Amino acid sequence: MNLILLGPPGAGKGTQAVKIVEKYHIPHISTGDIFRANIKNGTELGKKAKEYMDKGELVPDDLVCEIATTRLLEDDCTDGFLLDGFPRTVYQAEKLDEFLEKHGKKVDKVLDIAVEKEELMQRLINRRVCKACGATYNVKNMPPAKEGVCDKCGGELMQRADDTKETVENRIEVYNSQTMPLVEYYEKAGNIAHIDGAIGLENVFNHIVSVLGE
Ligand SMILES: [Zn+2]
Repeated sequence: MNLILLGPPGAGKGTQAVKIVEKYHIPHISTGDIFRANIKNGTELGKKAKEYMDKGELVPDDLVCEIATTRLLEDDCTDGFLLDGFPRTVYQAEKLDEFLEKHGKKVDKVLDIAVEKEELMQRLINRRVCKACGATYNVKNMPPAKEGVCDKCGGELMQRADDTKETVENRIEVYNSQTMPLVEYYEKAGNIAHIDGAIGLENVFNHIVSVLGE
């Protein structure tokens, strides 16, 4: 089962990824994690990527593709994978298709979790994260028992620097403009499933299961 997970910041992708991985026993392949691992382990690809990142430049598409597809060659991906954060552009999607075809595989399903911009803004702006254990809260929908204090560990809650109104708005816009052509690409391929991300965690997951099958 070769899957791609799409969704704007705040759509709850991370939570759904955990549940998908648990149910279908496939690895969650987040590009952020692969990049960090390559850089940490000092691989040739990691060194190349780091040169761009150190200069504050975007890592070129071809290098991103190489890093992501190299990961897909590992043993744990034999029976499938859940890609998260890749592909991000139509070019990357084409490269991924070429790569999979070469290995007698294909993208089985693209899960596109959609949430209205206003709802995303509310989720992200009101999000607070525990400095100590990483637990997340929402000051409106899911506040801690005591303001500013983590229910789980008593740690201090903070707002992430990129969860402010301006930054959030910008992140959503960047995501939308980048991803729209990608969604069209998979529409044409006929393998995309649109998931309403605003119906609650369990309902969202149930919808995903109904798309993927038990
Ligand atoms: Zn905590």
